[in-house]
Amino acid sequence: MSGTATAAGFPPGSAGALLSIDLGAIAENWRSLQAAVGKAACAAVLKADAYGLGAARVAPALAAAGCRRFFVAHLDEALALKPLLPASATLTVLHGPTPGAEAEFAARGIQPVLNGRAQVDAWSALARRLDRELPAFVQVDSGMARLGLSPTELRALAADPRALAGIRVAGVMSHLACADDPGHPANREQLERFRAARRLLPPAPASFANSSAIFLGEDFHFDLVRPGAALYGLAPQAGMPNPMRPVVSLQARVIQCREIEAGAPVGYGFAWRSAQPSRIATVSVGYADGWLRSLCNRGAAWFDGTLLPLAGRVSMDTITLDASALPEGALRPGTLVELIGKHQDVDAVAARAGTIGYEILTSLGARYARRYLEAPATA
Ligand SMILES: *Cc1c(COP(=O)(O)O)cnc(C)c1O
Repeated sequence: MSGTATAAGFPPGSAGALLSIDLGAIAENWRSLQAAVGKAACAAVLKADAYGLGAARVAPALAAAGCRRFFVAHLDEALALKPLLPASATLTVLHGPTPGAEAEFAARGIQPVLNGRAQVDAWSALARRLDRELPAFVQVDSGMARLGLSPTELRALAADPRALAGIRVAGVMSHLACADDPGHPANREQLERFRAARRLLPPAPASFANSSAIFLGEDFHFDLVRPGAALYGLAPQAGMPNPMRPVVSLQARVIQCREIEAGAPVGYGFAWRSAQPSRIATVSVGYADGWLRSLCNRGAAWFDGTLLPLAGRVSMDTITLDASALPEGALRPGTLVELIGKHQDVDAVAARAGTIGYEILTSLGARYARRYLEAPATA
């Protein structure tokens, strides 16, 4: 595939790089997670534009695969997706209503997560004003100290029978801090706190697991799991084989190639110098496209099975590769090199950049040409 200057849907003169997103692989990943959790339901987390992959395309593909529960971070994200999903789908907003937004949640049929007493009180007040039950998730903080009712708030809530008046608790949820590290003792501790918290709330379906926690075992599944990353092909457990299908590939165009002498510097700050006469390829992707500057002298591209180390700094719109391992003429203007693909997946790029795959995906720029591979029609 690399080497074709005119990949399908990527005419010369369009963007500098082609981002391919395999909707079929996302659907397949959802099905395999649903199968892995058995009788629990598998939701999908679509926040941040489906981790940068395009929620407007990802959501219908997941709905076609059978997913009916969707989580986003903000009300706007939910409102944008609502018309694209079947009427039977629920959209839940993880951050809950910002003060003053409650009425819009209720009017548009968007379900909030209530993350603290203030959000509980505002939702209950609205329900009483509208004189109807309003559904919501209630989140408890089981140890991460990020979102959710604190243990003190939870005890106060449990002691006050009026506190949840008008609220139909559609789910009780919490979130794990260390789920990607199966041996971490915090996983069991948070599990115990979550179980205890549930006993203080009205009986309701429980949701605890993100992608990684699905792989911690059945104890963590409860009634509804909330994967994001694994749907998009990221490895759920660090250092373990990745059971998910890859979703993303990125191919970038060579703009120019040049030969340089031994000792010649390359790029901003002369951050790289050749040890011997070298061949440098300048490629049309940069930090403005989410190709992070931390990849300076550490990143790589691939061409025909050959690793091409990133030489020097990442510029806004370009990177320079040491292509000396390739014969003269192998790379030409317009040739495509692999930045994400079978030789180097998103997690591998993240490791080279000193970050996590989530940050690589959500940083993917808006300048790429995008090609969506459709899910094959299901029987
Ligand atoms: C982002 C998020 C998820 C999804 O997490 P992944 O690690 O991407 O599977 C689930 N639950 C909550 C509360 C989140 O914020």
